[in-house]
Amino acid sequence: MYHSTRGWSQETTAAQAIIAGIAPDGGLYVPAHMPKIDELFIQSLAKLDYPERAKAIMALFLPDFTELELDACVSNAYGAAKFSTTAIAPVKLIEEGPALLELWHGPTAAFKDMALQLLPQLLSVALAKTDHDDKIAILVATSGDTGKAALEGFRDVKRTEIIVFYPLDGVSQVQRLQMVTQEGENVSVVAVQGNFDDAQTGVKTIFADSVLSANLADQGIRLSSANSINWGRLLPQIVYYFSAYADMVQSGRVAIGKPVNFAVPTGNFGNILAGYYAKQMGLPIGRLICASNQNNVLTEFITSGVYDRNRPFHKTLSPSMDILVSSNLERLLYHLSGGNTVKVSGWQSELNATGRYQVDNAVRQAVSSLFWADWSDDVTTKNTIKTVYEQWQYLLDPHTAVAWHAFERYSQVTGDTNPCVIVSTASPFKFCDSVLEALEGKPQSDANQGLELLDRLSSLTGLPIPAALAALANKPIRHYQTCQKGEMGSLVERTLIG
Ligand SMILES: *Cc1c(COP(=O)(O)O)cnc(C)c1O
Repeated sequence: MYHSTRGWSQETTAAQAIIAGIAPDGGLYVPAHMPKIDELFIQSLAKLDYPERAKAIMALFLPDFTELELDACVSNAYGAAKFSTTAIAPVKLIEEGPALLELWHGPTAAFKDMALQLLPQLLSVALAKTDHDDKIAILVATSGDTGKAALEGFRDVKRTEIIVFYPLDGVSQVQRLQMVTQEGENVSVVAVQGNFDDAQTGVKTIFADSVLSANLADQGIRLSSANSINWGRLLPQIVYYFSAYADMVQSGRVAIGKPVNFAVPTGNFGNILAGYYAKQMGLPIGRLICASNQNNVLTEFITSGVYDRNRPFHKTLSPSMDILVSSNLERLLYHLSGGNTVKVSGWQSELNATGRYQVDNAVRQAVSSLFWADWSDDVTTKNTIKTVYEQWQYLLDPHTAVAWHAFERYSQVTGDTNPCVIVSTASPFKFCDSVLEALEGKPQSDANQGLELLDRLSSLTGLPIPAALAALANKPIRHYQTCQKGEMGSLVERTLIG
């Protein structure tokens, strides 16, 4: 059963939570009980392939799904046709260095595929369990990677339609091309004049608009979300923490039961929160290192207990982390305050009213014992890409470079020598202009030659271009729509009802 972080008292099944996306009181769904695992469970995972690992972990949270249903979900999501490696989420070991958990071997070359290949599968099973035949319309606000991954996951999935909003100037050239060339009969892609927070706020406003919901309901359409606030997005992400740990044990990098730290490039706090859940379930995770770019709201929160979004918004080289309101943090606050929905609601209303809140001492201490945080600016990020490539022959994308830097800072400051896994969230080819600039020490003469840069980066490094990105060169543009941030609701209504 699932609860809302803000106190909505009706018990909700996993299927209902996944269909709804967000609770009726505006809160996020959280599991009422945390399943616990032991060393035997971890040992048993080591022998399984990734889809089987996913099944074993997700079953603990989805009692209303049968084994056959879960089988179908994981094999559709993580089949060989979708991922370029059967390991799905391989761990690369660097000699005398950290390990890298590569989450970008899916159809869009970034980590959102890990969850967004699975969410539509979970959703369609969940829909089949209800007795209505409504259609689900998925609304997504994206800072780049989510949009494309959601479009790929939902395209032509029965009883679903998807509308993706992206900030006009907030995504890379390759990311934009990936979205505006999207195929499928049930997909819309719209550029919003604003930044990611504007797009995300717009989507939240639409969800809260009861008149619009009623109009849509009359037509048999329900709104849902594929943003990382959906439980069906978060759950698949718990799996790879277990999988990475099992791989670290198998490779002899860590003795079973001993702690492993994870450094996570963080934006909306979804990825790292899945690591927190894995730890609460009993996986031996030491520190969770929360890495931010110049939009370092979370660094400040984790070190001081003050969340303050009143600051300039920076466009950085790691655009998928250009976020000032990290939605999933609300779930962490819920758990760390012992499920105190009154407090959580209070902090969220303060955030809405003033852009700032301060948690109490108990929560603050819990946060700082679980997490460690640091951030880097773009210059440091480029330096990290260059030095890591020269020193270790491993090519980082800008997001992963931010995490690598935080890991280095963490090691220097704390002296902690426990093994660390750096969560690698995107293929460097997805951000080839920044990566080339980092390697060559000068900006590209024409940053708009997005696709040619793929070839340049490939010939410079000898690394292959991911197939999904190489294919972009021959795809026609299918989506041209643009809107003001205030127009998103009416656009949704027009698109869905006509
Ligand atoms: C989304 C994304 C992140 C941030 O993940 P959150 O779950 O939002 O914290 C980091 N790196 C890349 C490449 C992403 O696409």
